[in-house]
Amino acid sequence: MRPSATLTAVLDLLEYQGKELFARHGVPVPRGKHAKTIEEALAAADEIGYPCVVKAQVQIGGRGKAGGIKVAESREETEEHSRAILGMQITGPHGEGPFEVHELWVEEASEIDAEYYASIILDRSEKKPLAMLSVMGGMNVEEIADKDPSALVRRHIDPQSGLSAGEAEQLATDAGVDEDVRGKTAEMLVKLYGAFNELDATLIEVNPLVVTANREVVALDSKTTIDNSALYRHEDVAAFEDLSAMDPQERMAKEKGLTYVKLDGDIGILANGAGLCMSTLDVVAQAGGDPANFLDAGGGSKADAIVAALEVITSDPKVKAILFNIFGGITRCDEIAKGIIEASGRIDIGVPVIVRLDGTNSEEGLALLAEADLPDLHLEKTMLGAADRVVEAAGS
Ligand code: GDP
Ligand code: MN
Repeated sequence: MRPSATLTAVLDLLEYQGKELFARHGVPVPRGKHAKTIEEALAAADEIGYPCVVKAQVQIGGRGKAGGIKVAESREETEEHSRAILGMQITGPHGEGPFEVHELWVEEASEIDAEYYASIILDRSEKKPLAMLSVMGGMNVEEIADKDPSALVRRHIDPQSGLSAGEAEQLATDAGVDEDVRGKTAEMLVKLYGAFNELDATLIEVNPLVVTANREVVALDSKTTIDNSALYRHEDVAAFEDLSAMDPQERMAKEKGLTYVKLDGDIGILANGAGLCMSTLDVVAQAGGDPANFLDAGGGSKADAIVAALEVITSDPKVKAILFNIFGGITRCDEIAKGIIEASGRIDIGVPVIVRLDGTNSEEGLALLAEADLPDLHLEKTMLGAADRVVEAAGS
């Protein structure tokens, strides 16, 4: 599972969406058009001119190697490539996916002199953005770091003062960027940081950042990730969110207004409050289990919220057991108990449920659950005891 410290729901944008945002923030990108059908791709190519590049739009890298990026010299070739790429299944370099290609980005072909790598990530351990630059672009950052760690120049950015032109220039110099394009590369980094900051991004990766034959510096690719919690203040970004491409549980949770993050284990987790939810994940992991999700039912959870939460958790076929860890403050444990009882009447939970209730009205809650005598529901007094029990119930 992902360590709980990096537990953040994010929106991964497609290349063309990232490039549209880049353009709005002054980052130079090749001219291009979005297409969903072969006809749209042909119209786009005719408008852009030849040669053009037909690019598969999926949320993973390595498209080039997978055959998802092709240069077309003519209308005929555009048709041939679009036909081949639309509907193609692409698997990521780390086995992600496969993702089926439903969308294309057709853009003017660039004459490439050099391929660089640039990224800005949120470095949580330093609580600062981190800019990285290398003249060894085209391959992924792990490969660069592997081949020659000194070829990857890293610099933290002070969030108060941002990235100055001078600092960016120094980065470009340290990375060994060709002297004639140092200024343009530095300018690009400053603009990328501006976009990162204004968009509440957690990652912006441009690989490759190219130097064209005319010695222009252009973003040829974009991998942009936005913090979901900030989407409310970025309407233009939220509009990119494709609910149909979302994980089914995450989509369901979003529709129900729940704070939910899918993980890859088999133990469904529900707790109230982000802090308790995080520690529940840790305790379950410590007990040898693998959490299937993070679900914060929030303070003051009412029965309806519990029913909705259980619907989301049980719709994940991987879930083999569920842990309810509730510490009642504003939340009343009797309300939680009523929610569990109501949910078990409305949906088939189908897996063992371990419940730990403590705090406000816990006695009333426990009494209600004891009286309801639900099948395969087990009460535990402590968080550790409940964690051990749920791991045992999941048989993992
Ligand atoms: P990725 O494989 O998913 O990372 O997709 P990229 O957008 O990074 O493209 C992969 C590679 O295709 C780049 O590193 C380039 O070498 C090549 N490529 C992409 N666009 C163009 C283009 O306009 N002209 C040329 N000559 N090559 C391109
Ligand atoms: Mn790339």
